[in-house]
Amino acid sequence: MEYRSPVKDTWLHVQLAPTVDGLLLHVHEKSEPLPYQETVFPEEQLTTEVLEKLYVGVGVLTPEGIVLEINDAPLADAQVRREEVIGQPFAETPWWTPSPASQEQLRSAITRASLGETVRFETLIHPREGMDLYLEATITPHRDVDQRVSYLVYVGTDITARKRAEADIHALIDALPQLVWTSRPDGYVTYHNHRLINYLAMTPEQAEGAGWLAGVHPDDQQRVWEAWQTAIQTGRLYEVELRLQDGRSGTYCWFLTRGVPQRNAQGTILYWVGTCTDIEGQKRAEQQLKESRENLRVLAETVPQLVWVARPDGWHEYVNQHWRDYTGLTPEQVQSDKRAYLQFIHPEDRESNRAVVQRALDTGTMFEHEERLRNAQTGEYRWFLVRGMPMRDDTGQIIKWCGTCTDIEEQKRIEQALRESQERTSSLMNSTIIGVTIIEGEQIIDANDTFLRMTGYDRDDLHAGRLNWMRITPSEYLARTLEAHQELSSHQSMTPYEKEYLCRDGSRLPVLVGGAILEHHPHQAIAFVLDNSARKELEQRKDDFINMASHELRNPLAALKLQTAMLRRHLNKQGIHTAASALSTIETQLNKLTRLVEELLDVSKMQAGKLEYRRETVDLDVLLREIADAMQHLHPSHRILLQRAVHASLLGDRDRLGQVFSNLLSNAIKYSPDATTVEMELSATEETIRVRVTDHGLGIPQEQRDKIFERFYRVTGTQQKAIPGLGMGLYIVTEIVKHYEGTISVDSAVGKGSSFTVTLPKSRDA
Ligand code: ADP
Repeated sequence: MEYRSPVKDTWLHVQLAPTVDGLLLHVHEKSEPLPYQETVFPEEQLTTEVLEKLYVGVGVLTPEGIVLEINDAPLADAQVRREEVIGQPFAETPWWTPSPASQEQLRSAITRASLGETVRFETLIHPREGMDLYLEATITPHRDVDQRVSYLVYVGTDITARKRAEADIHALIDALPQLVWTSRPDGYVTYHNHRLINYLAMTPEQAEGAGWLAGVHPDDQQRVWEAWQTAIQTGRLYEVELRLQDGRSGTYCWFLTRGVPQRNAQGTILYWVGTCTDIEGQKRAEQQLKESRENLRVLAETVPQLVWVARPDGWHEYVNQHWRDYTGLTPEQVQSDKRAYLQFIHPEDRESNRAVVQRALDTGTMFEHEERLRNAQTGEYRWFLVRGMPMRDDTGQIIKWCGTCTDIEEQKRIEQALRESQERTSSLMNSTIIGVTIIEGEQIIDANDTFLRMTGYDRDDLHAGRLNWMRITPSEYLARTLEAHQELSSHQSMTPYEKEYLCRDGSRLPVLVGGAILEHHPHQAIAFVLDNSARKELEQRKDDFINMASHELRNPLAALKLQTAMLRRHLNKQGIHTAASALSTIETQLNKLTRLVEELLDVSKMQAGKLEYRRETVDLDVLLREIADAMQHLHPSHRILLQRAVHASLLGDRDRLGQVFSNLLSNAIKYSPDATTVEMELSATEETIRVRVTDHGLGIPQEQRDKIFERFYRVTGTQQKAIPGLGMGLYIVTEIVKHYEGTISVDSAVGKGSSFTVTLPKSRDA
């Protein structure tokens, strides 16, 4: 531009030209203003004085590269005079001729500048022998009014010192294990260290400027380029994650690229230094973390529990689908209402829940609480076990609470049932009436207080193993007891039976014992023991009474019988026959009564073990004949058929044996009211004699066949009850047969008849 100086009153022609380090101010003094089109023309040369004051080399060239003007600084370097280079092609001057590569750079720069481009390049020249000079050269075209390039301004700045420093830095940078780069303030990357070059597998020239961008993953290029441009424009730290291609393998790895601007004292950015750090491992870890988080989430959704995650302040951060389904709450509701969850807790459980959670928050320890939660859909409450666990960061600070709610309704129900069954068991164990023992082998391993009280033993005896059911069983009950245990192991239970225990003080306790194998401990059994002494005492009293009564009855009966017989004889003598025959009927009844009393007496003697047996030779066939005849006489209603295939004799009590067969025969007649015959049969083997009495009467129901041999037992049917009897006959029969070590058995069919078989050992010397 041109303007008039107000001070000197002269016209000034001013030009500004850009150089690397700033602007070149170019001022001409004129006496006359010139029309604008004349202000720029080739003759307008820089005055020597102006140029001399510059530290840089400045020259003016024709568009073809011919030197029009040059200042002193470069002349001194090359030790040439101005006249030697003015008018010469710049590229042919002594600065450039010794280094053909630089010469070539200059030529191409001149060509480009002459086409209108400002060209900048760095190069190494040798102005004179032994001198290396790094130059930063700028060639700026100047245009005339027709926009044609009329001349070129060349500015050459000595950057040798900087280059050396840079070389040092690069050597240093090359030694670094990182990937490092540097760039100019405008973002033109000037340098990549060896590692980076090797990684990218590019030449330094390929990577220079923006060439490195080709090594960035296509998906990242746009983002990276924008970030870099922003950094250059704002001068702020450049940091970006990008995938760089390993030039040799073609694979991409994640890097964190950072660029830091380097500034001078004034704060102007001189250059950028950057690094690329491999974060592939980190990225992979991040990915894995993401995956594992995802796995956890999937897990949380798959587990049957209700899962929740809450912040330390109590807000729910996450709840799984089960949780949402059960409570019917949406994640939004959960997140907007901290207490939303509480309404699902059974009112009776809320207070304890609050206390447990508060304690956990205060102490920072995990908590567990059983509570009933309401199902939103059905409205029913179910028992849950709620667990919360604190999660801490590296410093130990609680960052979250993670928890689960496990449905334990079923478990609770089972527990309840178990508790009830335990209560039942323990009430049984604590029974004051029933003694309970647990036995294993011969040992009583546990017993309740009642059992101990009954037997007089204590817990010490129990724990010391002094309670052994064999040892506390009196010898005469051992066989029966072993039989019961046999039954226990084969049938898993034993039919209650009567026995006695030997108490600690030597006394005996009558008991009723039953038991069963424990289902879950097959080698253990539980036994129930009932104190039988009261019943036994009652029985004893009854026996005593029977004994006494039969004795008391016998004497007056005998007197009555005697006097009746005397009276009958007397009446007969006097010829009062009708009265005498009436008396004989009385005598028959008296005889029946006498037999009954005798039987009662026998029973009571048998009970006391005091029945006496005579010893004599008994011809059984003869005995049976006599009995049959007597019976036939008494009972003409039935024909008694006697079969005696053998002659058999025994050593025994004739009357007692007679009792056996007459009882059986009289029963056979009694219990077959509609039949006309009964049979009695005698047979023998080498060893035994057998008598069988058979009738065709009522028969005996299967379930009562064993019981009929018991004292005072009578079959319960209406037909049987109509037939008089006291239930003593078969008992007496059994006791007598047992005395001779024989056996009795019954075979019967209801409505058809019964058959009783007595077997006696032959050579008994009883
Ligand atoms: P009693 O005949 O005095 O009742 P027993 O001891 O002789 O007493 O018999 C017991 C029970 O056995 C009888 O009440 C009867 O019901 C039944 N019984 C005995 N023998 C026979 C039999 N031959 N046929 C049917 N039932 C019989």
